Amino acid sequence: MWIDTHAHLFDYEPDSLKKVVQEASVASVEVILSTATDIPTAIKVTEQCQCSDHIYGAVGISPFDVTSQSPDWLSSLSSLLRKPRIIALGEIGLDSTNPRYPPLNMQLPFFEAQLELAARLDLPAIVHSRGSEKKVVEICRSIGIRRVLFHCFTGSFDDMQAIVDAGYYLSFSGIITFKNAEIRAVVPSVPIERVLIETDSPYLSPVPYRGKKNRPAFLKYTAGELARLLDWESDRLQLQLEKNFNSLFFNSSL
Ligand SMILES: [Zn+2]
Repeated sequence: MWIDTHAHLFDYEPDSLKKVVQEASVASVEVILSTATDIPTAIKVTEQCQCSDHIYGAVGISPFDVTSQSPDWLSSLSSLLRKPRIIALGEIGLDSTNPRYPPLNMQLPFFEAQLELAARLDLPAIVHSRGSEKKVVEICRSIGIRRVLFHCFTGSFDDMQAIVDAGYYLSFSGIITFKNAEIRAVVPSVPIERVLIETDSPYLSPVPYRGKKNRPAFLKYTAGELARLLDWESDRLQLQLEKNFNSLFFNSSL
């Protein structure tokens, strides 16, 4: 099976969610990590985890959403993290490349407070990092968090090396299927035991659905491209990525 480690499913109501999960299952995507971006979507994620055995959840405040949180956001988040099938804190992060995001000095306190919470609860953090990967690795290390996933990784070879050296993981999205994407040159040099894949639905549809609304079922195209870039058999890749998922999110060494 394939595992979609990052999908925003909170726009789906129970009926349409069921269809999307079934469609994913037909495409061998049997596990989906549904990721929140703020408290209202985190509540939705905890509810969706109850609807399907295929769904796990991650809850957190994304860097884009830091300006719209109520003062008690941290205690709300702590209690949501204790709900069933919530296996990570995310997505959280820092983005210095997108002018639509709040300034970094507003993003940073949210990022640090959430990393500290994840470290305290010994949960993995799912990190959105654009334009400051090495700084983000440094912050994570200084806070002492053990398990971090850099989602939708598009950084340089050096960024990848810093992430791997810290013992962290990274995840590739549909961007690796885009012909001119620079990340394609980095992919073969990443240690395979640190790699995961994701759709980042509803964004970033892989080729041949580029530009359309993304869904977890489309993960198979990203998986296929990863197998090609690595020159690995699909079955072998599936097993390796399952193993990686279990060791990151469930502390498993199997
Ligand atoms: Zn996301």
